[in-house]
Amino acid sequence: MEKILIVDDSVVQATQLESILEDDYDVTLAHTAEEGLSRASKEDYSLILLDVVMPGMDGFTLLKKLQEQIITQSVPVILITSLSDVADEQRGLVLGAVDYITKPFSPLIVKARVNTHVKLYNYRRQVEYQSQTDQLTGIGNRRQHDRYSAMKWKEAIRLHVPFSICMFDIDKFKAYNDTFGHPAGDKVIQAVAKTASSYLRRSTDFLARYGGEEFVAFLLGDDSEKAFEYLKKVRQAVEDLHIPHDPAVSEWVTISVGGVSVVPKSESSYAYYLKVADTMLYDAKKSGRNRVIWADEKMKQLYEK
Ligand code: GH3
Ligand code: MG
Ligand code: MG
Repeated sequence: MEKILIVDDSVVQATQLESILEDDYDVTLAHTAEEGLSRASKEDYSLILLDVVMPGMDGFTLLKKLQEQIITQSVPVILITSLSDVADEQRGLVLGAVDYITKPFSPLIVKARVNTHVKLYNYRRQVEYQSQTDQLTGIGNRRQHDRYSAMKWKEAIRLHVPFSICMFDIDKFKAYNDTFGHPAGDKVIQAVAKTASSYLRRSTDFLARYGGEEFVAFLLGDDSEKAFEYLKKVRQAVEDLHIPHDPAVSEWVTISVGGVSVVPKSESSYAYYLKVADTMLYDAKKSGRNRVIWADEKMKQLYEK
């Protein structure tokens, strides 16, 4: 069941709303704005019903706070107002509430409005998810990379932790397609994505398909030596899949990997280091493919093989 949060200081009113909705939803009650904020920040609600007039923090203040937090800002909020509070309704809608319901409650109207907004919210979440997921592999796409990299880069600056950016690309993939056909090539892209993501599964790791047969990953917290060692394992794991390549090219399908590790400072640009990683990848291709080349904090290169 979808979860709904009701924030209302009046126990009678909150219980009334709960009884209207509890057959269709998993309803939680909060009797102060502070409690509402704390619950909304911890749990995944599909909708919040919010009373405007409450002692202490009022509904408007809570609405503003919900909108400022990344985890709660997209959850739809319906305001509970009295019939006479036209000014409250206006203010709430301007602040970002999706709708309002007036007291006394008509159960049918409450249900209809709640159902509509929960449906819209789920639809939006699905569209957002799809727009950031690569269809072929199920991992993130370039758009997700752009969003996450900006977020995580800032986090690394704030926490003074090393950030490693890595780009890798399937070797001589054009020849693979030419020999085995495009559908077989698609399967290889899927297999490479699956193998890489099985290695990059810590909550601080990220992997996306950057384009065609090219991937981008980043790792937080590892120094260059550690990240370099780790990506050598990933590269080896792809080779160990033993996917036969065009014999004129090589025995197995392989990837080349380029990367860089840096402790970013406030003036450091992610785009610049992404380019460094790409340059390392280019060097890995030039020096024979199926290898990892990494740039450390002092831009000294670490070579595999
Ligand atoms: P290199 O080792 O230098 O990377 O050589 P390459 O042949 O892999 O590089 P190139 O950029 O010349 O070719 C990339 C190939 O990847 C060409 C393109 O058809 C193929 N490709 C890109 N996206 C897809 C895809 O989604 N599916 C399949 N099957 N092939 C793709
Ligand atoms: Mg009240
Ligand atoms: Mg390639």
